[in-house]
Amino acid sequence: MSVAVKHGNGRPAAALDVEGKPDDGIPPVPFEHEELAIRRGARSGCYVIVAIHSTLLGPALGGVRMWQYPATIDGARDALRLASGMTMKAAAAGLDLGGGKGVICASECPVPDGELRRGMLLDFGDLVESLEGRYITAEDVGTTPRDLLAISERTKHVTGLPPERGGSGDPSPFTAVGVEAAMRACARDRFGSAALTGRRIVVVGMGHVGSELARRLAAAGVDLAVSDIDPGRRTRATALGAEWIDPREAMLAECDILAPCALGGAIDEANLPLLRCQVICGSANNQLADESLAGTLAEREILFAPDFIANAGGLIHVYMEIRGYSEEKATELALGIEDATSRVLDTARERSIIPLEAARELAQERLDAARAEPTPVG
Ligand code: NAD
Repeated sequence: MSVAVKHGNGRPAAALDVEGKPDDGIPPVPFEHEELAIRRGARSGCYVIVAIHSTLLGPALGGVRMWQYPATIDGARDALRLASGMTMKAAAAGLDLGGGKGVICASECPVPDGELRRGMLLDFGDLVESLEGRYITAEDVGTTPRDLLAISERTKHVTGLPPERGGSGDPSPFTAVGVEAAMRACARDRFGSAALTGRRIVVVGMGHVGSELARRLAAAGVDLAVSDIDPGRRTRATALGAEWIDPREAMLAECDILAPCALGGAIDEANLPLLRCQVICGSANNQLADESLAGTLAEREILFAPDFIANAGGLIHVYMEIRGYSEEKATELALGIEDATSRVLDTARERSIIPLEAARELAQERLDAARAEPTPVG
């Protein structure tokens, strides 16, 4: 599938093979999306991207990721992959939202501050505005509520603004509430008790979600270990009394529950045979480098909590912002992820299918019902 790329001035620039070739080392991304918009920012010169997978249930909502990719094509593929995950997440969580994702391809790593960053954010805002509400943006890896403020100078289709600017603030704490709730459901399924106290849990990625999750787990009396590629995050481990694990070893640490809270693709063919956990339940989107690995995990008797079920707390939070925000209601719905996860695990057990398949069926049932009776967007 080739996609025309537009420069900021509207001139066609190049064609991208977004599905990838089997021999290029990048997993193919099925192009079944409604739209892929790629534009070279007029201010920053950096590429900004929005992928809209589906607007069947409502406007496509998904965060914007700022990251330095090896090439723009990798950013586009990431956006496509993440957007389809958002469709499944919103559908499974019972929200009237579609799936989309934004990507800002940073020209340097670590991603820049100052005028260049501001230019990238304004460029992205222009792209979002051009989509006329079919895509609504939010925070994701590499972006903050302050960044959303800059984006909001160019578009009104923004959620997760700071509370003093009329928004509901950072969704990450609600994502953490949901992941912890999903962990309880997994613990009940695997260990016969939902209690996390005393369980050995390893959190990989001490960013917005991982730090908050770790804080909650430490308060719950978990035997906690954490890791991050940024050594500066070690102080957070010390503050929580958690063990610090070298990031090259963290995914393979022996534990009851492994919580991938960094980037996607954390579990791949190389590390899967070496995993020493009983449960995988984290916040990262698309934790499996390839979805077929879910079957291999089941063969190894490792319980994998489908990521789009476990990490829906943040989406619930921003959805509440669109619908009329109540922190109490957002927390209640995020805690409901424990029941949602249990339903998926029970269905999987009853039907002898893997949890990922059960979760996908749950989402697909809702999408099929909507397809029979489509909801107008806008
Ligand atoms: P973040 O950027 O704040 O944190 C990510 C952390 O992971 C950073 O500290 C980074 O240094 C670290 N990291 C990156 N690669 C690593 C590696 N290989 N090993 C160890 N650490 C590594 O991002 P976040 O907002 O905390 O989100 C984390 C994950 O959860 C992402 O995949 C995101 O898409 C997903 N997610 C976030 C939310 C939310 O509310 N923020 C909601 C749903 C899903």
